[in-house]
Amino acid sequence: MQARGSDADADAEPKPEPVLYAVPRPMQACTLIAHAKINLYLEILGSRPDGYSQVAMVLQSIRLADRVELKRCHHGIHLSCQHPQVPLDATNLAYRAAELLQKESHTTAGVDIHLEKHIPVAAGLAGGSADAAAVLVGLNQLWGLGLTVADLQTLAARLGSDVPFCVQGGTQLATGRGEILEPLADWEGIPLLLAKPRYLQVSTAWAYQTFWSMQADKTLQPNPRASGLPQILTALEHRDLQALANSLRNDLEKPVLATHTVVAELRSALCAAGALGSLMSGSGPTVFGIMPSLEQASQAGDRLRQQFQGVDFWATQTSPTGILLEPDPQLLSFPSISAG
Ligand code: ATP
Repeated sequence: MQARGSDADADAEPKPEPVLYAVPRPMQACTLIAHAKINLYLEILGSRPDGYSQVAMVLQSIRLADRVELKRCHHGIHLSCQHPQVPLDATNLAYRAAELLQKESHTTAGVDIHLEKHIPVAAGLAGGSADAAAVLVGLNQLWGLGLTVADLQTLAARLGSDVPFCVQGGTQLATGRGEILEPLADWEGIPLLLAKPRYLQVSTAWAYQTFWSMQADKTLQPNPRASGLPQILTALEHRDLQALANSLRNDLEKPVLATHTVVAELRSALCAAGALGSLMSGSGPTVFGIMPSLEQASQAGDRLRQQFQGVDFWATQTSPTGILLEPDPQLLSFPSISAG
């Protein structure tokens, strides 16, 4: 492995490193990139005694991301964020992540957290969950806790169903209520076009409740023959983009599309603009299209922006990781020290 700050690195664009594999080192501050996710597949299999739904999901990290800045301080948890829809109190998932870690590790250290939001809020892209995962991963380093990925995922599950996935990210099969994870082979760089009506937010709880109230059979037994899971897993294994596009599924589309026709319109518009397939992510209202190339995604986004006033579009790609540590420019500028 090449030493940090070597000549070869000097002219190169600073690249974020996968934080989970970084050598632990004492830090006063760090910045993390917290990637959003999309659901390539969401099948509701049944209801559970704890009130959650039993699901089978294929979750995928994407490059659209928040920046999470952490600074060690003497005590307390202090949160700042400019986004008007993000709560700054103890209901913020990033705050709750720091609070949980502080309590569980019996640490007396504190932290200043600053969230730079780029992931739209309440959009089905797990923005809050990604921020919470970044805080767990970052504080593990900042406070020198030495927790493993599995430890962090166990804590993450106490914060929300999507948080364990966000800790590691990439492509994963999620079952149970979404917290039982099985990593799948990475498929980095699938071109995507995302669309979200600016004025519309959908609550995840509402989407599940409405799904169940529309469901005649309240028990909903898993039916292996009706499941499209084998098809999507095969498409991912063979890296067959058209087969992947054909096997997209989200059971939460039923309540959301029936209530918000703009979501159905955007889904059709993405296909008309060249998407191989399109789907609503999570509980919506964001929809995504799998595009033949990033250039086509970007051009289609420019065209659709003119057509749909009040809708945001992002051309992006799939990402192989959930949380990345942003390199410290000061560390990168140190001259390399050769061994011996
Ligand atoms: P998921 O896909 O995991 O269901 P989502 O993308 O639909 O999540 P979020 O962006 O996480 O939704 O926001 C859901 C709600 O959580 C918002 O209404 C917001 O008030 C609250 N919230 C708490 N912490 C955060 C955070 N760090 N960032 C954004 N929203 C947060």
